[in-house]
Amino acid sequence: MGKVIGNGRSTKVWKDSWVSLTQRTLPCGTTTEDDNDLRVFDLLTTELSCNRKRIEEVIPALAPMILSLQPSISGAEDSYFWYPTRNGIYSVKSGYHSIKGPSATPASNQSDFNWIKDVWNGAFSPKMKTFLWTTIQKAIPLGANLQSRGVTQEVKCIRCGQIETETHIFFTCEFAMKVWDYIQLKQLIDIAILRDVASALVAFRNNRCLSPLGVTTPILPLILWALWTARNVVIFEQRSYTVEETAIRVIKLAREWSQAQSHKKESSTTTQGSNFVLPHLGSPLPPPIGTTIIKTDAAWDKKSQTTGLAWIDAGPPSYRIMQGARIHRNVASPLAAEALAIRTALQDATASKVSLLRTYSDNQTLIRAINGKLFEKEIYGILKDIETLSSLFVESSFCFLSRAKNGQADFLAKSILRNLLCVMGRSLSI
Ligand SMILES: [Zn+2]
Repeated sequence: MGKVIGNGRSTKVWKDSWVSLTQRTLPCGTTTEDDNDLRVFDLLTTELSCNRKRIEEVIPALAPMILSLQPSISGAEDSYFWYPTRNGIYSVKSGYHSIKGPSATPASNQSDFNWIKDVWNGAFSPKMKTFLWTTIQKAIPLGANLQSRGVTQEVKCIRCGQIETETHIFFTCEFAMKVWDYIQLKQLIDIAILRDVASALVAFRNNRCLSPLGVTTPILPLILWALWTARNVVIFEQRSYTVEETAIRVIKLAREWSQAQSHKKESSTTTQGSNFVLPHLGSPLPPPIGTTIIKTDAAWDKKSQTTGLAWIDAGPPSYRIMQGARIHRNVASPLAAEALAIRTALQDATASKVSLLRTYSDNQTLIRAINGKLFEKEIYGILKDIETLSSLFVESSFCFLSRAKNGQADFLAKSILRNLLCVMGRSLSI
């Protein structure tokens, strides 16, 4: 576990791992007895931002990393986070993989395989997507998968007695090959050379059944599904489907799905899209009259770790009271930059005596983290500040806004950053 810095009071400089968000790092320096118990708090200014001079004095080697940490200016307590996950929250699954080592992490080295393109955006049912996902993650109870988890009984193919691997049950078992023979494909693919489901999805990207079957949807997931359920019927119901029955089931399922899709298209062309809201992205409705509306954005320069923040009052002209832009240095990521933009806007709004506020950002992760009070190790302190600051308003809400609608704030953020880089003799490449 590592520590994320809020006010720095409970984190020991030399004994806790707090400098890096990606790997355990204990700072070492020339410790004297006096600073043995030094806290991170002692490296911050009275406003709880990083005290550059002090940090460069005490831990010069790690100063650049430390300066990019964003402590909580409202004084939130420090917290622990878990290294192996992206957001820093522990999960049993990541715990398991971290003990087992890299070999246990499901590998999809198939160079071309793409989760979004090949699975999540595939033209097949959600059930098939989940099925493909569990299969590729090696989470379906196939003999070989069970064996790798220490279950050693019943690891053989129920039809031919060979070890039941993914390749075997879906592609090379005699039963599977016969089912494949029944399904006519537009392009001939040598099924026997497919190594696993992920590479099969890549090979099948553009393949559909021959037209007489009346099938227009991708056939691969359904074949795999039919083979898998045919196997389960033998094991759990002591029944068995013949090759023909299995192949016919594939075609039947594919036709049903194709037909359902064409009905859906006819009936839903007008209603789709407009009112669809993802969880935690905020209300799509306009806020009550009198609410100050602020759009925020940040432009981030990776090389100099510098960001331009901007917030702009986007309410009706008669209400407009605030806008601003600022440079912030030592910012480690675009997410931190966007979060700083919101925090700075909220500070400005409290100073401007705003009571009803709605803040927009075009960063979904950020809006979700704020509205869902989610833990994000990278912006822990800033999120705590945003929570504290927003409690100062009578009403405060946060919503996602598409980039296309956030042009003014974007322009302002880029301008201020561009000017700074220009002074430094560089141009903005974002
Ligand atoms: Zn077999």
